[in-house]
Amino acid sequence: MQEKGTISIHTENIFPIIKKFLYSDNEIFLRELVSNAVDATQKIKRLASLGQYNGELGNLQVEVALDIDNKTITISDNGLGMTADEIKKYINQIAFSGATEFVEKFKEAKDANEIIGRFGLGFYSAFMVANIVEINTLSYQDGSEPAHWTCDGSTSFEINEGTRTTRGTDIILHINDESEEFLSRPRLQEILDKYAKFLPVPIKFGVTDEQEPDGEDEEGKPKYKSVEVDNIINDTNPIWTKSPNELKDEDYLNFYKELYPYSEDPLFWIHLNVDYPFNLTGVLYFPKLKNDYEFQRNKIKLYSRQVFITDEVKDIVPEFLMLLHGVIDSPDIPLNVSRSFLQADSNVKKINSYITKKVADKLADLFKADRKAYEDKWSDIGLFVKYGFLSDDKFYEKAKDFVLLTNTAKETFTLNEYKEKVEPAQTGNDGQLVYIYTNDPDKQDAFIQSANRKGYDVLLMNSPIDNHFVSHLEQKLEKTSMKRVDADVADKLIKKDDAPAHILNDEQSASVKTIFDSAINKPAFKVELESLSPEELPVTVTMDEFMRRMKEMAAMGGGGGMSFYGQMPDNYKVVVNANHKLITRILGEENADTQAQLAKQAFDLALLSQGLLTGADLTEFVNRSVNLI
Ligand code: ADP
Ligand code: MG
Repeated sequence: MQEKGTISIHTENIFPIIKKFLYSDNEIFLRELVSNAVDATQKIKRLASLGQYNGELGNLQVEVALDIDNKTITISDNGLGMTADEIKKYINQIAFSGATEFVEKFKEAKDANEIIGRFGLGFYSAFMVANIVEINTLSYQDGSEPAHWTCDGSTSFEINEGTRTTRGTDIILHINDESEEFLSRPRLQEILDKYAKFLPVPIKFGVTDEQEPDGEDEEGKPKYKSVEVDNIINDTNPIWTKSPNELKDEDYLNFYKELYPYSEDPLFWIHLNVDYPFNLTGVLYFPKLKNDYEFQRNKIKLYSRQVFITDEVKDIVPEFLMLLHGVIDSPDIPLNVSRSFLQADSNVKKINSYITKKVADKLADLFKADRKAYEDKWSDIGLFVKYGFLSDDKFYEKAKDFVLLTNTAKETFTLNEYKEKVEPAQTGNDGQLVYIYTNDPDKQDAFIQSANRKGYDVLLMNSPIDNHFVSHLEQKLEKTSMKRVDADVADKLIKKDDAPAHILNDEQSASVKTIFDSAINKPAFKVELESLSPEELPVTVTMDEFMRRMKEMAAMGGGGGMSFYGQMPDNYKVVVNANHKLITRILGEENADTQAQLAKQAFDLALLSQGLLTGADLTEFVNRSVNLI
């Protein structure tokens, strides 16, 4: 039996194209060939279980053998093997409709995965690293003859009688000069660790004829010994393939350590396991976030039937869960994924919402099962929950029951609990419920104290995401508005009719306003007289909630009309408390100079309490204070 022929692709120079184009990604040849070997092994197992193969299965394993001296890498299996006819059918007739289409399409393709996946070129990725590829195979079928195929990377091949005496296939790669990096044990080990660590069939990695230094001979020349290293490099039953009830916490923690050796233990995990309407297994871990919010993305690894595909899971995992760690395995995600494919695939969308739902359910369970433990973890998981709450409506629907609010007294509440707590004191006479918050409890301490004196509660909103969280809450909660504690004086934060009577008449009010206007004399500060409780400060500086938020959004690069707000100068309201003793005293003061000085002093004190008094203004304040003393 001897046959020569031409591989059915209608262009002579396809291999140079494959080689050159795919060069950057060429390590995937090993993934492709090892997965083919695993497939062949799984197939013979299946045939045996169906009663269609009655021979001995033997010790089913795949072997990757590196022979450094002979510059070959051999991938062997004892799977189902191929007959000469099958080689012709599966290997020679490359599965794409024609060279024209290929050449047209590969121009747009962005990476090797895309081409190999789209055109079923898995086996041919061997030519990225080898100038000659041999197949030595013997089919499981009764009476099969061993077959040998060889191809030198041109489109012609040769089939003749093979030498294999046992069922299975060897793929022998004669590594080309440009790919000598792969003739190294650590390099191959690295690739196998990446792609083959959890394959379902044992993978043995053997290095033969490697020359290791072995002291010196009598003449003082270095001596070498030949070593053989053989070991199984994979775990064929990683935990995500097991059922959750076979597993203990320890197993999950050990697996986490195996994936991320230098990480702290995770907070908790979710075992994913679904087989309808798509197939997906996996384990997702909630990591401990570092306080510096140095987010580590791309920590989820995507597998397809235990073959590693990628750690860029952007399209499969919802954006807000990108901080999770772990493994997802789905045979419904093809081995050779391309970005455009993922975005269009309807399974991927379903997977996305399934994961969202599972995560939400897990959080709800944790919250119900042990509220205290949940609260303790809140500083780590709060960010996920808030992010999901903001970005995903389905998640919001569940998260609204377990998102927590924290107040300045460090007490935590669910949304419902908080509403119940503050509703009596914080509903205005217009029926609006007002939630008061601070983003900087130190700077806004005077305001917080004033609010507390009025019986108002103040929420802490000082994490990086809280800006958005606040506006989202306002959109979602009915008849509720959010006001930062310094958006107005405490008496005015919530509309009520309980303002004390104004003790000044119109004429007096006008002259107080004039005194302050000319003492302050800055266009950004607008003086207004209000009748507040006498215990409140004589002067308070506030910035309107709406204006402040618009400016913050403009500063964060909000588009459209936002830039308009960005250009607006800062505008503050200077609230003068008509009922404060100091104001009465200023009015009664006969010397206009002293009047102005006192007004200025009261204004500067207000700025000072909010950290707004700086530079020359601060120096002037200090000097004036010394004089007044
Ligand atoms: P795919 O794996 O997507 O089918 P490949 O190009 O990787 O595409 O392989 C083409 C075909 O060659 C396989 O479908 C299989 O029939 C055959 N084949 C490849 N490697 C082996 C092997 N080690 N044992 C048996 N058959 C193989
Ligand atoms: Mg394949």
